[in-house]
Amino acid sequence: MTLNNFKLGQSIGIVGGGQLGKMMAQSAQRMGFKVNILDPDPACPARYVAHEFIESPYNDIEGLKKLSALSDVITYEFENINAETLKEICAENHVPQGYQTVGTVQNRLSEKEAIASSGAIVVPYKKVDSKASLDEAIEELGYPIVLKTVFGGYDGKGQLVLKSSEQLEEAYLMIQDAVLVAEKMIELDREISITASRNLQGEICYFPVQENEHRNQILFKTSVKKSHEYSEQAIAEVEKIISKIHFVGTFTVEFFIAKDGQLYVNEIAPRPHNSGHYSIEACNYSQFDTHILSVIGYSLPKEIVLHEEAVMYNLLGQDLDAMESYFPRHPEWHVHVYGKEVRKHNRKMGHITLLLDGKEDTYYPIYEEMMK
Ligand code: ADP
Ligand code: MG
Repeated sequence: MTLNNFKLGQSIGIVGGGQLGKMMAQSAQRMGFKVNILDPDPACPARYVAHEFIESPYNDIEGLKKLSALSDVITYEFENINAETLKEICAENHVPQGYQTVGTVQNRLSEKEAIASSGAIVVPYKKVDSKASLDEAIEELGYPIVLKTVFGGYDGKGQLVLKSSEQLEEAYLMIQDAVLVAEKMIELDREISITASRNLQGEICYFPVQENEHRNQILFKTSVKKSHEYSEQAIAEVEKIISKIHFVGTFTVEFFIAKDGQLYVNEIAPRPHNSGHYSIEACNYSQFDTHILSVIGYSLPKEIVLHEEAVMYNLLGQDLDAMESYFPRHPEWHVHVYGKEVRKHNRKMGHITLLLDGKEDTYYPIYEEMMK
């Protein structure tokens, strides 16, 4: 495949059939492309919007080869795909995102090293793989610190906040199972993120700065306004990062703003991100649209326009009943339900986007009352 040569009716293979895969697929299908999904779960959300479905573990080379045989281009919805396995299909198939970026970013240590070496500011951190190295990290960073597993954490899973020596036993247990990163715990003023897309030609477009509120370390709410005081600084950090890490497609950089105003890069997701979901209704292009355009080698929009200020709330397993009882009276809610079969506590089941249009005062209280 050469650039700009991707034709209507050609197909995009997506590794992962969760909500991100589903929303990517919906975007691609709207534009006239076919979508093939690989996922171990035969009832995954994206299955029902796919032309072909391959039931396979993410890291199974035979499954990936089947997906490749059916697809003209391969992308992924999440970063925990094994970089070595991905490398094997890169050789013979068109995988515009490559395997190296996933390899760097799926490991919190190599991710932080790459970000720091770009000159962007990261939270002070240390590698922890033994009692001695934990003691050193505590000595250097001071309490409180956050311990995070190097691989596989999400929504705060695989993390322990260490406030005093009383928790040391718990921390020592954590070291037995995994290599960790110890991070200084930042006194947060706010959290923001910025989503961008980059195509193979190197064109890039930025979505507006997103303000994120977490509850129990899970994203609860994202708000976007027409301008943000950290916008220029955040984009400058992203530009440093992309000079070191090669991104193709949509990716998101998460930041902390400390109480003293310092901006720190927290982590990067090399894929569409929960905090960018509002873009489906609120912007001229969604983060899924620009992801698809990027990976098929098309040009990107010169500018992402936020039509209306917006807020997005996640719907977790425990929120769905309440949402269902309110929804019939709230046509202004843009409701997305992903179609996961099992409603689990704290599992992301959907989200709602509200276009504010100056109506914050009427929208917010209803929603926040419902979410209590
Ligand atoms: P995940 O991969 O689970 O998203 P993060 O590193 O982004 O992991 O942590 C999840 C949330 O936990 C963050 O968005 C933030 O609210 C909180 N958190 C994580 N690390 C720190 C830190 N060093 N200081 C303060 N808060 C933190
Ligand atoms: Mg995070």
